[in-house]
Amino acid sequence: MIYECAIIGGGPAGFNAALILGRARRSVAIVDNNRPRNGVTHASHGFITRDGVTPTEFRRIALEEVKSYPLVDHLQNEVISVDTTQFRFELVDSAGLHLKARKLILATGVKEIYPDIEGFYSLYGKSLFNCPYCDGWELQDQPLVVVSEYPNLFHTAKLLLNWSKNLVVCTNGKASLSDGHKKQLQSKDIVVMEQPISAFIGQNGLLEHVRFADGAQIPRMAAS
Ligand SMILES: Cc1cc2nc3c(=O)[nH]c(=O)nc-3n(C[C@H](O)[C@H](O)[C@H](O)COP(=O)(O)OP(=O)(O)OC[C@H]3O[C@@H](n4cnc5c(N)ncnc54)[C@H](O)[C@@H]3O)c2cc1C
Repeated sequence: MIYECAIIGGGPAGFNAALILGRARRSVAIVDNNRPRNGVTHASHGFITRDGVTPTEFRRIALEEVKSYPLVDHLQNEVISVDTTQFRFELVDSAGLHLKARKLILATGVKEIYPDIEGFYSLYGKSLFNCPYCDGWELQDQPLVVVSEYPNLFHTAKLLLNWSKNLVVCTNGKASLSDGHKKQLQSKDIVVMEQPISAFIGQNGLLEHVRFADGAQIPRMAAS
């Protein structure tokens, strides 16, 4: 069989593409290895009709919806290679399955790369976040720290002020803030710390302190 479309990735993007194609009576195969970007979170917010849903429940509902369309197949495997010929794509997955399709949608998502700081991954997605719209509501008015090595830091700090005025801004040893931006932040009583961070310290996924390479330590409840 040659599918009209293969979709690599079964996150919101891949499942929605499958839903639309299934409804358009196209034969579709979604191949997904179930490692979603937000897999570490307890709850996903800000998606109307699904505010607060767990990532697992979101996928269960998505799969149930696409399965009601008879031309949509779902395979839980990893695609390890894709060959192209003039007329079609040939996918090989981790189970050794060869799948042919005329069109291919890459819905594989993105993976963030974070600085290698002790404690980071034990807190990531539980009290270290990358999107205030997703998790800021739950942390309003709490002691927060915002960290970035890039010039977006000033903008992110300004944005986060809407959720909490109790903010410390860290550059992790990089020159990510201009003198003018530092002055503007300090004029709002925001502490700027420019030394490298050596560890995020917490328990059960909850941040308690940020420790710096020079030995300084600040209590904080969450980081962005
Ligand atoms: C910590 C965190 C919290 C978040 N919280 C929220 C929130 O509260 N609200 C919100 O709206 N958004 C949130 N997001 C963002 C949200 O997760 C993404 O916007 C969304 O997952 C993007 O969907 P996607 O389909 O593009 O990718 P993904 O959801 O990452 O799905 C991609 C899928 O492709 C699969 N895949 C990749 N390569 C292959 C391969 N070779 N073979 C087979 N399968 C493959 C992956 O395993 C994965 O299942 C959060 C993100 C993070 C990191």
